[in-house]
Amino acid sequence: MPGFQRPTGTLDTLPEEQHYWRHVRAQARRLAELAGFERIDVPIFETTQLFARGVGEGTDIVDKEMYSFTDKGDRALTLRPEFTAGVVRAYIENGMHVLPQPVKLYTFGPIFRYEKPQAGRYRQHTQFDVEILGEQDPVADLEVMLVAWDVYATLGFHDLGFQLNSTGCPACKPGYIEGLKAYYAERYEDVCEDCRQRLERSPLRVLDCKARGCQAIITQAPNILDHLCDECDDHFATLREYLDLLGRTYTINHRLVRGLDYYTKTVFEVWAAGIGAQSAVCGGGRYDGLAEILGGPPTPGVGFGSGLERIILVMKDLGVDVPPLPAPKVFLAYLGDAAKRECLRLMDKLRHSDVSTWVALGEGRGLRSQLREADKRGAHYTVILGENELSSGAATVRDMKTGEQFDVALNEFVGYFQKRV
Ligand SMILES: [Zn+2]
Ligand SMILES: [Zn+2]
Repeated sequence: MPGFQRPTGTLDTLPEEQHYWRHVRAQARRLAELAGFERIDVPIFETTQLFARGVGEGTDIVDKEMYSFTDKGDRALTLRPEFTAGVVRAYIENGMHVLPQPVKLYTFGPIFRYEKPQAGRYRQHTQFDVEILGEQDPVADLEVMLVAWDVYATLGFHDLGFQLNSTGCPACKPGYIEGLKAYYAERYEDVCEDCRQRLERSPLRVLDCKARGCQAIITQAPNILDHLCDECDDHFATLREYLDLLGRTYTINHRLVRGLDYYTKTVFEVWAAGIGAQSAVCGGGRYDGLAEILGGPPTPGVGFGSGLERIILVMKDLGVDVPPLPAPKVFLAYLGDAAKRECLRLMDKLRHSDVSTWVALGEGRGLRSQLREADKRGAHYTVILGENELSSGAATVRDMKTGEQFDVALNEFVGYFQKRV
């Protein structure tokens, strides 16, 4: 009988993978903090209502993909399927609107969606998320886009480009949607079943339909950019001007609407080369109405989320070099009980002096097997301690990289290795 297996769509990240994770997290954190973003952490589960309101009923996320449950106190809770709703909830609940605005936040952590698992896409996956709250200036849009770009560029992705669109605001979006519905009403017989449903529930999403029969209809559909109000039009033009100024390539894509209802004005994706048919690596946008939907004061916001599993998968495909995790500096091998005890004392002292140290474990092991282990663990130095060494007060040290062997006095031992860390 097989033992337990991890649930479908989840992943074990083994020690041999951790250098990727450490590197990706470190770079993302470094770039976010360079741009003045501060870390926030929000709960992994929130009230179901937060996502029903904040992400929007009628979206795939809320209708089909949430891990929702009732706790022992009869509360309806959901494992977060994305970060933005929780971060905005935290901003409102903690009165962050009284801080100097904007508030620039980043976070990392697992999110949960019941989706069809595929390469780099898991039901529990880890996101890096960046949000700017409390600022309408297109510079805020630019800032989150720059962090996204710089993260991918730093991690070795190339031929980066933004796909860019504006989805308008409450002043101009409803008029556009009316026009879009009227256009689709005339072609109702020709569009796919999914699009018919989208027209009822989340009409903009007809524009990202993948069904072959819908493509020509989408191409001819009214373009939202022709229907923006002056404010949205200015905002979009200014953002494009800033992107030009900083040399970040973008393509305007009027089909880009993203899956979430709450977006206003800017929506974007980062695209990169060499990662298969679907080349969007992350996406985000502006959500100026969300704080009010969640019961807070009117607060503009803009952000993006990006999946780390997928980043790491692509880095492996691209053969990006990642610094390895440090191997132990010193491996302590011994012969005999007295030497073993001395090794334990040395181990303790070395670790307290910040020298990473392994000691051989196991009863009555031969020296040869201990040396083999030291080699496998990639130790820089192996220290050999036996009765002769104890009586002479000096241990034999082998530099595993050069094969050199020399003696180090036990009373100078810690200082010797500390200098070599
Ligand atoms: Zn507008
Ligand atoms: Zn369709």
